[in-house]
Amino acid sequence: MLLSKEEESMFQIVKKDKRTLARVGTLTVPHGGRLETPAFTMVGTRAKVITLEPEDLIKTKTGIIISNTYHLWRGLGDKLPQFKGLHDVMQYDGIIATDSGGFQVFSLGFGREHEVSKVGFFPESNSTPGFFSDLFLQIRIWLGITNSRNSVRVMPWGAYFKDENYGDKKFVFLDAEKSIRIQEKLGADIILAFDECTSPRHGYWYTKWAMNRTHRWAKLCLELKARPKQLLYGIVQGGAFEDLRRESARIIGSMPFDGFAIGGSLGNSKEDMYKVLEWSMPYLPEDKSRHLLGIGQIRDIFEGVQRGVDTFDCVIPTREARHGGIWTYDGRYDVTKGSNKNIEAPLLEGCVCPACVDGLTRAKLYELFKNKDREGGRLATLHNVYFFNELMGKIRQSIMEDRFPEYKEEMLKRIEKKK
Ligand SMILES: [Zn+2]
Repeated sequence: MLLSKEEESMFQIVKKDKRTLARVGTLTVPHGGRLETPAFTMVGTRAKVITLEPEDLIKTKTGIIISNTYHLWRGLGDKLPQFKGLHDVMQYDGIIATDSGGFQVFSLGFGREHEVSKVGFFPESNSTPGFFSDLFLQIRIWLGITNSRNSVRVMPWGAYFKDENYGDKKFVFLDAEKSIRIQEKLGADIILAFDECTSPRHGYWYTKWAMNRTHRWAKLCLELKARPKQLLYGIVQGGAFEDLRRESARIIGSMPFDGFAIGGSLGNSKEDMYKVLEWSMPYLPEDKSRHLLGIGQIRDIFEGVQRGVDTFDCVIPTREARHGGIWTYDGRYDVTKGSNKNIEAPLLEGCVCPACVDGLTRAKLYELFKNKDREGGRLATLHNVYFFNELMGKIRQSIMEDRFPEYKEEMLKRIEKKK
């Protein structure tokens, strides 16, 4: 099939900011979905954005959702071959992405052993493990001697999981080939290469060896991918080590992926995370889209956009909503607090989300949460998802109008004021 010039290029830059690396773009996927970027990807781990129905996704202007390959694969088990595809199952026509399972290599593995997330916060850890300590760790993993909380064993050829959540008695294997085949079956528009996500507590050498595995697996994923209807993104690794990030971005960035994601440990602080973006971006082709994996606090969105990130994904809008965390342009508040009991105002003044236009008030939502009514979580989710999508629209507009840096400063001042 011959493609026109526009169709060939799945990502089009509409406007570049003059003072920063921020850009507005259009991402088109082969099944026909179209997304304006910068955009926020809502998380629907098991083929569902929790509490929301298919029509809610349209009402909240949700343009992209990411589902989780590992949990769908494990949850579906023998039923995977009969899986009808994410678009059918979710009854959703927007863009759907799936991750590769590489994040679970970390979250079920060293994330547990080290008790950390992708961005650690250890002011004390100025020193990282040295060569011999990393070598010892690598040998320990290969011999299968890990902490009891760690359910993953990464080998040069793939990863073995023994996940008590799925009642595993034996190890279950996932590698680049299996990840691609599962993602083909799941049928998302955007799929990710299999990688090893490292921990902020891993030393330089371990991070380097893991990065080299990721590069090898990335090449394999490109060779293995069979479905032209799916876009394949490569993942940049390298922890928070400058030379490794640069090397990984250069190597992954030179491979013929359809887009790129920044993954892995993002260091010990937000500043580390922003540096990781600055080190990586120069090596990623400008005309391909860039995704920052698993990050989505408001400040991080602005700082990411400023450094050239097009899409983000995070559970913040949805997970916090289910616990009563409500996002507004004046920051976040907890609607379950007694102070909301008598506030007969919308969750956010002037909000046109499906919940607020329906007459929802803070007092009413407080009541629903107090009575443990599930409708509370659903209404809060509608509001938060709409809010994040609207905020991204405002960011795009500010870039179009050449006032992104001013908008960023104004918004961060407002949103972070109450904290
Ligand atoms: Zn609202």
